[in-house]
Amino acid sequence: MAQHFLLSAASRTLSLRSIYKAGEDAAYKVFCQMRWPETNGEAVCPVCSHEESYKITTRRKFKCKNCHHQFSVTSGTIFASRKMAFMDLLAAICLIVNASKGISMVQLSRDIDCQYKTAFVLAHKLREAMATEIHTGEVLEGHVEIDGAYFGGHIRPHNEKAKRVDRRLKQHQTGTRRVVIAMREREGRTLPFVGEHEGEGVALANENVSRLSTMSADEAAHWDALHMGWNVDRVNHSAIYSDHGKHTNMVESFFSRLRNMIQGQHHGVSPKYLHQYATHSAWLEDNRRTDNGTLAHIVVSNAMESPVSRNWKGYWQRAA
Ligand SMILES: [Zn+2]
Repeated sequence: MAQHFLLSAASRTLSLRSIYKAGEDAAYKVFCQMRWPETNGEAVCPVCSHEESYKITTRRKFKCKNCHHQFSVTSGTIFASRKMAFMDLLAAICLIVNASKGISMVQLSRDIDCQYKTAFVLAHKLREAMATEIHTGEVLEGHVEIDGAYFGGHIRPHNEKAKRVDRRLKQHQTGTRRVVIAMREREGRTLPFVGEHEGEGVALANENVSRLSTMSADEAAHWDALHMGWNVDRVNHSAIYSDHGKHTNMVESFFSRLRNMIQGQHHGVSPKYLHQYATHSAWLEDNRRTDNGTLAHIVVSNAMESPVSRNWKGYWQRAA
């Protein structure tokens, strides 16, 4: 039997040991190289694109020789106004990409010894960086599976049987239940969305799936509408999971990862953050055969290209 990818040496190209052994200056250089790959890490002014600058070494800042603008390696990126050492930032990224089912923020804050709030905001910013790879705006092609899975809104049954209510009825629900609708290419990308009803998936398919694709869906009645636009394989899950190649197993395995992430690591999720976890999970799924050094590289370079996060900048200061 072939060895599982994550057990192979090829999957391990980055370690905490190597990050901390190389030290803070080396970690700083990594960020410079990711930010300015075309000049091999030499600073480029974010305002006027001039390639020569004075180095203010003591504060790790640069001053443009042309327009005198002062900037740092993280200015204008999602890491702007970071307080963490570059070494710790790299270590946190390493831990996050190593966690194939996600990592809880309490655990991350203990591992790198930072506040829970710092870990929480950092992880959400990194999920934004991952989202640029997931929500690319390009349509899905080839064979595309679609399905939905419900998350959240759990109603705890009353201790005494006599006082328990019918949890299926709308008046007893909390209003926080959401569905993740995912479309997944058999050989490629996973594209998740969050909605209130699985049937919203038909409109999402219209926007995001090529007309030349073949689709797969289960027996749920709302998917009948897909037949208007595509050739659709249907599989009746009450009778069979895979019927001579007709199945939705790829999208189901995405939901399995997302469920493991939410139940095992985050222990529940508010509707506000569900799309971020779905994105994170899709990113892990699509990169499941990439070694961890490359994964960290992808996250950092995406993060360096992502502008200052509007959602997470000063998040806790604002909430307080
Ligand atoms: Zn300049």
